Amino acid sequence: MPETLIKVDLKESPYKNDMIHNRWHPDVPMVASVKPGDDFIIQTYDWTGGYIKNNDSADDVRDVDLTTVHFLSGPIEVKGAEPGDLLVVDLLDIGALPDSLWGFNGFFSKKNGGGFLTEHFPLAQKSIWDIKGMFTESRHVPGVKYAGLIHPGLIGCLPDQKMLDTWNKREVDFIATNPTRVPPLANAPFPSTAHAGKATGDVKSKIAAEGARTVPPREHGGNCDIKDLSRGSKIYFPVYVPGAGLSMGDLHFSQGDGEITFCGAIEMAGWLHIKVDLIKGGMAKYGVKNPIFRPSPITPNYQNYLIFEGISVDEQGQQHYLDVHVAYRQACLNAIEYLTKFGYSKAQAYSILGTAPVQGHISGVVDIPNACATLYLPTEIFDFDIMPSAAGPIKHIKGGVDMPLSPDK
Ligand code: ZN
Repeated sequence: MPETLIKVDLKESPYKNDMIHNRWHPDVPMVASVKPGDDFIIQTYDWTGGYIKNNDSADDVRDVDLTTVHFLSGPIEVKGAEPGDLLVVDLLDIGALPDSLWGFNGFFSKKNGGGFLTEHFPLAQKSIWDIKGMFTESRHVPGVKYAGLIHPGLIGCLPDQKMLDTWNKREVDFIATNPTRVPPLANAPFPSTAHAGKATGDVKSKIAAEGARTVPPREHGGNCDIKDLSRGSKIYFPVYVPGAGLSMGDLHFSQGDGEITFCGAIEMAGWLHIKVDLIKGGMAKYGVKNPIFRPSPITPNYQNYLIFEGISVDEQGQQHYLDVHVAYRQACLNAIEYLTKFGYSKAQAYSILGTAPVQGHISGVVDIPNACATLYLPTEIFDFDIMPSAAGPIKHIKGGVDMPLSPDK
C-alpha cells in the first residue's frame, strides 16, 4: 500500500489540521517530503472544509464565509525540485472517502459569491448528489444519473515571492477599477481567515497578510476546474520554489465545462493517489508558462449529445464583439430553457449543466461581430428521450421535487 502522507478528519475543523492551508505563499512550510519516482496518497477536505452539509436546506450555501476557502492539502516537498523545472504529476487514482459518499452542488447568493448565471439565479440553492460507485444521482434533481469524471478542481505548486507580488498587484489594481461591485471583481488577501499550515509567529503573520487567495486559476495552475484533469492524467507543473511545494484539493466527482454554478461541481472530500517526477529545466526546454497535461485514457463513454449554440448577443439584445463569455452564457440559457419543457425547474436544469459531463466549446471567434459558443449535453444521462420530435416534449419530471432555496437574510 502506498503511504498516506496527509490525512483529514472530516469531523474536525480544517483549521486544526496543520497539513492544510488556504492561501498561496512561498513561506507556507512543507508538510511532507518525497523523492522523484515516489507514489503516495493525499486526503483532502471538500473545498469548504465541511461547511456544506448533506441536508435539505441551502442556508449553508447562503451563509458560507468564502474568505475561508479553499482548504488545500500540502504543500509537499519534492526533493531536488528547483525553480525552472517541470514537476510531473501522475493522477494514478482518485476517490471519495468511504465514510463520505456524497457531494454537493449549489448556487451562491449574488450577495455572497454569485456565479456564471447569478443575474438569473440570485439566491442560494443546493442539490445533494449521492455517490454510488462510479455513478451519481440526486434526490433534488430526478431523471438523471451519470458516471463520474472525478478530478481535483485545484492543484499546483507554490509561487515564489516575485510571482506572488505580481498576482497581488494585478488583482488589487483590478479591484480598484470598481471596488464596490457585487460580486467583486477579484479577492484581495484577507488575513483574519488565513490558514498558514504549520507556520507560526512572524511567518504566519506574513502569510496571512500577503497570501494570495485560492479562487482564480493562475500561472501555476491552481483553481483551474478542468474536468478532464481526471484520474489517469499526467500533468506538468511549472516549479517556482525549491522543493516545488505541491498542494491540492477541491475534489469534484463530476463537473460540466465551465463549472458554471461556482458552488460548484459535485464537490466532495476524498483522496488522490499520485506519483511525482521531475524534468530538470523543463520550463525553458518546452517553453511552458502555464501547466500542460495529458488527459485520462478512461472517460465516461457518452456518444450522443444535443448541442446548444449561443452567440455574443446578450439577454437584452445588446451586441458584444466576439465575446465568448456572453456567447457561452447564451448557450447555457438556451439549454436551461429547453430542459424546462421536460418538467425540470430552471434551477434543476442549471444544476445538471454544472455537474454532468457537459462539454463547452469555443466554436467560432472570428466571424465579426458574433462569437459562437456551444454546449454539448450528453443525451444518455437522462432516463428519457430529450431529443426534439414532432410529438413535442413530454413532461417526464412531474414536479414536487426541487432544489432547496434560501432567501437572503
Ligand atoms: Zn470545486
